Amino acid sequence: MLDFCIIGSGVSGSTIAHILSKKYKVEIFDKARGLGGRASNKRFIKKQSFDHGVQYISPRSKEFKKFIQFLLKKKELKIWEGNHLDFTFEKKESKKKFIGTKGNNVISKYYAKNIKKNFQSSVKSIFFNNYFWEVKLDNKKVIKAKSVIFTCPFPQLKKIAGKYLKKKFSKLKINMEPNITTMIAFKSQKEIPVSSIKFNDDILTWAANENSKKRFNSSNSLWTLQSSVKWAKKFINIYKKNKKVENTLISKFLNFSGYKKNKIIFKKTHGWKYSYNFHGSPYKSYWDKKLRIGVCADWLIGSKVESAWLSANNLAKKIK
Ligand SMILES: Cc1cc2nc3c(=O)[nH]c(=O)nc-3n(C[C@H](O)[C@H](O)[C@H](O)COP(=O)(O)OP(=O)(O)OC[C@H]3O[C@@H](n4cnc5c(N)ncnc54)[C@H](O)[C@@H]3O)c2cc1C
Repeated sequence: MLDFCIIGSGVSGSTIAHILSKKYKVEIFDKARGLGGRASNKRFIKKQSFDHGVQYISPRSKEFKKFIQFLLKKKELKIWEGNHLDFTFEKKESKKKFIGTKGNNVISKYYAKNIKKNFQSSVKSIFFNNYFWEVKLDNKKVIKAKSVIFTCPFPQLKKIAGKYLKKKFSKLKINMEPNITTMIAFKSQKEIPVSSIKFNDDILTWAANENSKKRFNSSNSLWTLQSSVKWAKKFINIYKKNKKVENTLISKFLNFSGYKKNKIIFKKTHGWKYSYNFHGSPYKSYWDKKLRIGVCADWLIGSKVESAWLSANNLAKKIK
């Protein structure tokens, strides 16, 4: 029997798993094919890849800054150099943008290195039999664990574990906003000398030049395009069926860049239904000592990698 069954391999899941694994028997279960959750990195060919979720890390708190410096020293992270254009002119600050040396799933990779991970293992339901938890997976397997920890977005948590959560917690009003992201590669186009562009546009709000991260050398130009929240809200449920959605995002970028449509050699669109909760909650993490069920996730604190990391560390303190 496991001491802790951790649901999710994103920043929160891998952080809490790493801390608890020093003392307890821990395993991670994730419905996805690989590590990282919303910080995952998608391989195109060979070493060429896209960060299609998290774009960069910009630490604010003292604790997280210290951790980022640690990863920087280990060469797991580096600074994303180059020109970062901001056409919104919202903030004058020029904060450093940290990225993973090999991909922005760096925190999960580093922390979950020595932990048993079960991918393509979607948790369908949980049952507390008064002694331990029975965690039921979509492949009909049942995992026995003394404690369970959820790190998924709030709507998914409520669906699976709602009846075991305290009312005050399960009744939280958490509004998780969507994002539509397109990964696109062009053949032999002139390199645009910028690393990222923040647009002042109702549809396309962000474009990241994957080549500028200097993780690979290629004659292909790889870009990650992200939509505005407002536009994503309209199309998040239909983007898969309606190709117009993807085409609209792409034509915005073609107009801006001057890149040719017939030079596109790859495109893939991913809809993030639960991307960010901009408002946080009164909790940093949740732990029910009696039932031994816990929650840590970014949305409890904010909308960033840092929020996920802080939430996991907060939960670890409660468990200890
Ligand atoms: C498009 C986009 C851009 C972003 N850009 C940035 C940025 O530039 N900087 C920044 O700091 N933050 C950014 N964020 C936010 C950042 O991604 C999150 O704050 C952080 O990754 C959340 O980590 P987490 O571990 O709490 O959750 P997640 O990463 O969502 O992890 C939850 C995990 O649970 C798994 N899961 C869900 N349900 C189940 C189930 N039933 N069974 C098993 N597994 C399950 C999921 O597959 C997932 O791996 C961005 C997010 C998005 C979507």
